[in-house]
Amino acid sequence: MTTNAPIDWVARAAQLRPQARLFIDGDYVDAASGETFATVTPRDGSVLAHVAAGSAPDIDRAVRAARRAFDDGVWPNTPPKQRKHILLRFAELVREHAEELALLESLDVGKPIGEALRVDAGKCAETIQWYAETLDKTYDEIAPTGPGALALVTREPLGVVGAVVPWNYPLMITSWKIAPALAMGNSVVLKPAEQSPLSALLLARLGSEAGLPDGVLNVVTGFGETAGAALGRHPDVDKIAFTGSTQVARTFLGYAAESNGKQVSVEAGGKSPQVVLSDVADLEAAASAIAWGIYYNAGQTCNAGSRLLVDESIKDALLDAVLKATATFTVGDPFDAGTTIGPIIDGTQLDRVLGYIEVGREEGAEVICGGRRTLVETGGTYVEPTILDRVGNDTRVAQEEIFGPVLTTTTFRGEDEGVRLANATRYGLAASVWTQDVTTAHRVARQLRAGTVWVNTFDASDIITPFGGFKDTGAGRDKSLHALDAYSALKTTWLDLG
Ligand code: NAD
Repeated sequence: MTTNAPIDWVARAAQLRPQARLFIDGDYVDAASGETFATVTPRDGSVLAHVAAGSAPDIDRAVRAARRAFDDGVWPNTPPKQRKHILLRFAELVREHAEELALLESLDVGKPIGEALRVDAGKCAETIQWYAETLDKTYDEIAPTGPGALALVTREPLGVVGAVVPWNYPLMITSWKIAPALAMGNSVVLKPAEQSPLSALLLARLGSEAGLPDGVLNVVTGFGETAGAALGRHPDVDKIAFTGSTQVARTFLGYAAESNGKQVSVEAGGKSPQVVLSDVADLEAAASAIAWGIYYNAGQTCNAGSRLLVDESIKDALLDAVLKATATFTVGDPFDAGTTIGPIIDGTQLDRVLGYIEVGREEGAEVICGGRRTLVETGGTYVEPTILDRVGNDTRVAQEEIFGPVLTTTTFRGEDEGVRLANATRYGLAASVWTQDVTTAHRVARQLRAGTVWVNTFDASDIITPFGGFKDTGAGRDKSLHALDAYSALKTTWLDLG
């Protein structure tokens, strides 16, 4: 394909030799079956690599390696300060290999290369560093017993953690799982999404180079129904940390019930509202945040602000501003410096997004911009930024996760109706409210049923705050010190001082 990209990204991509074998017990190995699957770049539809198709025997091998590493005590008994140094080195190696990781991520997922570098590779390193730094700064507890006893409440690692992640932010979400899990002293078996297996395979080697003992971090690539199911059902896995769709989240809860009752935390879908009240202070700022909130990562973001709810008194003015903001986005080659919207992950997801736009039309929505596939000649899977106007909040396009650059707009009359519509969804991941009145902001924020509520901004985030949702979005929180609880159990040690 032709491209305006700086030549070095294209040239570097041509030189890449991605690792495509499973990483188990400190080594790259073929799948037991010898089978592979093609991973394709949505940039132009070409095959990037033939990746090992792991299945039950490979999961079993990885779990046995992880169990041995845990039971030997080689990692959990390493003093926290030393674990910290190894994880800090891991973060440093991620930074040193940021370009290669970003390139793999950009090719595999279609992310604009600048974002893959800054956000995906950058946040992955930051997350590993952040959890490393907690290791010699967090303390356990002494319970308030009487003088005749001493009761210690200590955090213990769970054992073998299975991490199952989606394709939309592979490096970042992987780091949200593995960094706190490793910091607490667990062993990990990671199953990346079949659409985006490459960056995890490099990440595992960097962990090993940093000093993680063999078996502590394993990566088994493969399909959900085979590798993912085998991990979910494995009797010797103590915990599954899952991020993905609500439907598969429930499947994992079922696997746990059918097998060993392992702990399961699930971070699933979203349909996040942006609620713009009539007294919004800065329409342009709101419009820009609304556009970024839905078009970033081509709308393939769990907390994408996919539902615009606006007071009818300011609807026309706001929509004009959102249309202007939309016009500043450029769909294109992820290697092109001017690209702000890359391709959709693959043909299946492309059909889903285009299908939903059609459903919107049938449901009576007006397509006021975009609505079509674009750049077909590249062989890539690109969609125009799209706005569906006059959408009823109970329609499918307002209720179901489209996972593409498609915004729906719905009007309300007054704050109460705005809040009611915002909460009228099965999901509860994120929401925003736009108002210049601080009392209104707090009142509305309290009423919104979402794991994160932004006021006069959207998608502001940092590793220091928890991330997760209510309702069908799931249970559990990634990020912040609270995530350490998800990878540890409390132990009470009661000493008689009598
Ligand atoms: P998905 O549920 O299809 O897949 C997620 C993972 O589960 C993949 O690794 C996949 O291989 C595996 N899997 C799929 N079917 C399986 C099965 N039957 N048994 C075992 N494993 C199986 O999700 P996706 O399409 O990769 O990702 C998009 C979804 O992820 C969206 O719903 C999005 O909202 C959600 N998501 C949520 C968050 C969050 O933090 N809440 C973050 C990112 C993405």
